[in-house]
Amino acid sequence: MDALVLVLNANFEPINVCNTRRALGLMLTGKADLVANGRGHIYTVARSFPRPSVIRLENMIHRPRAHVKLARREIFRRDNFTCQYCGRRGNDMTVDHVLPRHLGGLHLWTNVVTACGPCNHRKGGRRLEDSHMSLLHPPKEPPSTATYIFGRHLSDNTEWMPFIHGW
Ligand SMILES: [Zn+2]
Repeated sequence: MDALVLVLNANFEPINVCNTRRALGLMLTGKADLVANGRGHIYTVARSFPRPSVIRLENMIHRPRAHVKLARREIFRRDNFTCQYCGRRGNDMTVDHVLPRHLGGLHLWTNVVTACGPCNHRKGGRRLEDSHMSLLHPPKEPPSTATYIFGRHLSDNTEWMPFIHGW
């Protein structure tokens, strides 16, 4: 029941991900339709339900375009788990503020990078120019496309691909 379900707006735009329990609730109350199944059935005493993979809301939800959340795992994902100072890749990375927070650096996409422990330590609380280190890429906000936003779920849910592609 914790398996993730892709939620499409009434116009088929992918807008969210929820768990199976929530998706069934939306379907049973007539708020959403099943779009893709492919995961067998859920059996209860009285009946069985198709196990949803993609659902579509009956009524259009109007909301601003989603942006990628500024979270540690999203910073690492943007930077491909690669230290932006030395180029080492790993899953033991840290987040570095290019302009340190104690010098007024803001917690924004354009001021955070993935850094390995040694590089983060070496840079310390200094400005980039004072550290004599350089960045592989200037940090940017990731694209707010559905392919990027939902991309981290795609390896586990390849059947979502056609519903996400192009949005
Ligand atoms: Zn490094």
